[in-house]
Amino acid sequence: MIHTGRHFLQIPGPTNVPDRILRAMHSAVIDHRGPEFAKLGSEVLENLRPVFQTAGPVVIYPASGTGAWEAAIVNTLSPGDRVLMFETGHFSQLWRQIAERFGIQVDYVPGNWRRGAAAAEAASRLGADARHTFKAVMVVHNETSTGVTSGIADIRQAMNQAGHPALLMVDTISSLGSIDYRHDEWEVDVTVAGSQKGLMLPPGLSFNAISEKALSANKSAKLPRSYWDWQDMLGPNRNGYFPFTPATTLLYGLREALVMLHEEGLPNVFRRHGRHAEATRTAVRTWGLEIVCEDPREYSNSLTAVLMPQGHDPDRLRSIILENFDMSLGAGLSKLAGKVFRIGHLGSFNDLMLAGTLSGVEMGLRLAGVPHQAGGVTAALQALAPAETKRAASMAS
Ligand SMILES: *Cc1c(COP(=O)(O)O)cnc(C)c1O
Repeated sequence: MIHTGRHFLQIPGPTNVPDRILRAMHSAVIDHRGPEFAKLGSEVLENLRPVFQTAGPVVIYPASGTGAWEAAIVNTLSPGDRVLMFETGHFSQLWRQIAERFGIQVDYVPGNWRRGAAAAEAASRLGADARHTFKAVMVVHNETSTGVTSGIADIRQAMNQAGHPALLMVDTISSLGSIDYRHDEWEVDVTVAGSQKGLMLPPGLSFNAISEKALSANKSAKLPRSYWDWQDMLGPNRNGYFPFTPATTLLYGLREALVMLHEEGLPNVFRRHGRHAEATRTAVRTWGLEIVCEDPREYSNSLTAVLMPQGHDPDRLRSIILENFDMSLGAGLSKLAGKVFRIGHLGSFNDLMLAGTLSGVEMGLRLAGVPHQAGGVTAALQALAPAETKRAASMAS
């Protein structure tokens, strides 16, 4: 089938790359040891910090998010170290596997894939660890397979109340630049992020934001590392350079993405994601479908995972929507394969893109013969534009 107009890329990452960023990347590659590069490197390294809400260093790897997961581990831990992780879903599973491949002993708090990391469980396990055998607590902030966001401030509070010195390491790959996240205030030691979700870039860059405590752990961490070594990176970074050939073109894109985020203002970015998420949930509830996330306090503002009614195949629905409306939705991953579909509403996105997205889902449900109530889109539109007076008032202010 021939598709006209724009493809709707509504998976929870990679997200739609704005034209401004595509144009910024359409530039000549420059000498990465020359003075022009130093300006680019210094600018992006500096302007990344407020996005992580940190005053400390952020390093950039030419790698997918998985690389930055590995970097967090090999830079801070030693073989045989014990860490505490939480089963939130597919991505917590993958991070755990990396740790285990490096000989890390993982205490994995079981979960039902519908709830976030339980701070109470962190409190009791850390409280019972009087000898401080846990070297790190590792949490996925926004579990992209389930659409559940964990309370990182609560985990930090549990750690502090237990007086436990473990490092706190957090995966923000699908929340950074979409959902409020505070590296310094929450005393996170390593924050892992990626380029292709809230940062609106193509895949290919990933990040570690690093606390002073993580830097000192780095000095005694014994896991073998070479490419990922923070020390190799931080030296040249001080002057805007990299220890190897950086992904120059993606860095042009990153420079533009950071300008865009700062123009809009992070609080507005977070509010926008909150509005779109709430409108999406309104549509899902109106359709009579079930949201995977069980606790409204843990609803993700960057994606919504939706359970299919018994006996209906979400992948058939997704392929009908792809064929008919040229829209990609996220599949269920591992344990949730064949049970859910996921709507991405993060990154470069606006009200009408959401209206189009939800319209595609509603038309798809009808075409696929999935039992549902009509009117989800209408309810979402009302959620987006509740009353003319209110809307007009906010425009005027
Ligand atoms: C996308 C994602 C990853 C994996 O990142 P890659 O870039 O595919 O390596 C890890 N964690 C979370 C929470 C994600 O959303």
